[in-house]
Amino acid sequence: MQLYSIKELDIDGKRVLIRCDFNVPKDEFGNITDDRRIRAALPTIRYCIDRDCKIVLASHFGRPKPGAWNEEKDSLKPVAKRLKSLLKKEIIMADNVVGDDTIAKAKELEGGDIMLLENLRYNPGETSNDSEFAARLASMADIYINDAFGASHRKHASIFALPEHFSEGKKAAGFLMQKEVTFFDKMIQKPSRPFIAVVGGSKVSGKLEAMVNLVEKVDKLVIGGGMAFTFLKALGYEIGNSLVEEDLIDDATKIMQRAKELNVKFYLPVDVVVAPEFSDEVPVKFLPIQEIPSDWMGLDVGPATNRLFREALNDAQTILWNGPMGVYEMDKYSKGSFMMSHYIAESHATTIVGGGDTADVTQRAGDVDEMTFISTGGGASLELLEGKLLPGVEAVSKKIS
Ligand code: AMP
Repeated sequence: MQLYSIKELDIDGKRVLIRCDFNVPKDEFGNITDDRRIRAALPTIRYCIDRDCKIVLASHFGRPKPGAWNEEKDSLKPVAKRLKSLLKKEIIMADNVVGDDTIAKAKELEGGDIMLLENLRYNPGETSNDSEFAARLASMADIYINDAFGASHRKHASIFALPEHFSEGKKAAGFLMQKEVTFFDKMIQKPSRPFIAVVGGSKVSGKLEAMVNLVEKVDKLVIGGGMAFTFLKALGYEIGNSLVEEDLIDDATKIMQRAKELNVKFYLPVDVVVAPEFSDEVPVKFLPIQEIPSDWMGLDVGPATNRLFREALNDAQTILWNGPMGVYEMDKYSKGSFMMSHYIAESHATTIVGGGDTADVTQRAGDVDEMTFISTGGGASLELLEGKLLPGVEAVSKKIS
């Protein structure tokens, strides 16, 4: 699979619609708290500005509820403001997504002008992959660019139906999309070894397929976070009230068996930080996993586990990390995740961080600049790791006959 690159298209002076992923976190006052996704889109936007394109930017934001479309909290207006300050350029903010007035405005844009459409999900046609909605979007541009890796696993109109309105040579991936896909592809196909995957987070279920695929590729698999307890339970440990997915115990066993067959080294926590309830206002204990009291729960990995995981990472050449080691949002249970972030950041390996929470951990730990690559797409990167062809990637890929 090879993506069409924006560089292969003749875009000079053309009307270009760029599908971006501006789904950034905001605080309760509507202020953007992390603008990484906006910054990541700038190279493609600047490339189009330099070529005198008439630029229409489109993105989704949050999950507006049916009937609550147009709610101010989901508006992209704050993104327009941030773009203006980053690009030092006026941004025309559309009042809606595909209203007649907006389509007319798109047609009046001059070279170098930028118009940002309102939240694509204000229109129910976006999530239902509606072809009429896609046609109205398509009417605003001659060229379609997908730079929204984080949304490319979804069969939504701006990702899937829209590019069908553009023939070969009129659609391509933007720089960010290209970078993300190439990175994951290379890492999976030809990783420098030892290749170690560190997987954590709350549930096995969300990452099961990715783990099934990863176990075939990696040299070591390190498991932390809530999901570790399903594996520990599969091994017969008493895990108290810790998070567990009973229905996945068999799958967990199969992954461990497969690891054994392939001689993939498999690491689980050897000690945990346990608490009587899911709160950081209770006394905690540091215990070996053999000693978890029946009515307590494990909320972070313990100090012995940190040392073990550090040892395991020692010889890594490639590290993929997805999922925190504990409930990092609470101070008391954040150490395992922060330590993991530091170990990975300090390593000499190529390091790839995927998933919103994991990116958040590296940010809070101050390790962002030390990572080789932080993916903007959590769900999308997991689906790539599962070996799936993402709808948004397929739509701008070269057809090999
Ligand atoms: P995920 O979305 O599956 O990557 O999970 C991320 C979430 O997992 C974070 O919000 C963590 O608080 C949570 N998490 C990590 N470890 C645990 C644990 N031991 N028990 C409960 N939740 C956890």
